[in-house]
Amino acid sequence: MTAIVLLSGGMDSTTLAYRVHREYDEDIHALSFDYGQRHRKELEYADITAEKLDARHDVVDLSDLGRLLGGSALTDTVDVPEGHYSDDTMRATVVPNRNAIMLNVAIGVAVARKADAVYCAVHAGDHPIYPDCRPEFIDKLNDLQVVATDGFRLSDLTVEAPFVFRTKAEIVEIGDMLGVPWLDTWSCYQGGDIHCGRCGTCVERAEAFAIAEVADPTPYEDPAFWTEQVAQT
Ligand SMILES: [Zn+2]
Repeated sequence: MTAIVLLSGGMDSTTLAYRVHREYDEDIHALSFDYGQRHRKELEYADITAEKLDARHDVVDLSDLGRLLGGSALTDTVDVPEGHYSDDTMRATVVPNRNAIMLNVAIGVAVARKADAVYCAVHAGDHPIYPDCRPEFIDKLNDLQVVATDGFRLSDLTVEAPFVFRTKAEIVEIGDMLGVPWLDTWSCYQGGDIHCGRCGTCVERAEAFAIAEVADPTPYEDPAFWTEQVAQT
């Protein structure tokens, strides 16, 4: 069967893609989204993973939408905040309704491709600041897609978020067991040559490896910064 996987090129969605491919034994059609983010680097990493998993990969161009949804540090000239991901400052990285928009596009593709599942890698660490990454959102979206695609979808089509109650560190543990090549993943919001080590997602990445007690192969420009941030929280 074919599964649609939202693949951003980050650690969570890459781990999910490997899991869907190996554990659930599904063919993957990976979807990435260009929503006018400040850099396109993560899309290149998504492509690497799709190729390794022998998956079809499409980048959906929502860049115009990104312009309309401006005001986020991910799409605009607002500075990318440094520090711990759970800080209030990270609210600057919210692109309103982004996950809901992407998932609804993916549901449409799932119907067109006669896929039996749409997978997304939202996790527990997303819940505080991203409302459309919470369990109740996934539940409601499943209710919605049943109504919205009635008569067209495969009858067992579901939106799956297997990491929704998992922490980032638990995802690292799962990825470690699956042999996910971490250097094929990109987290940094800055889009430099290597991970900056200072932005929220870099701090979150380094911390997740440490908590999971999995060796972090990522080169960071500022490798010690995250430990200072975690010590402050
Ligand atoms: Zn960074």
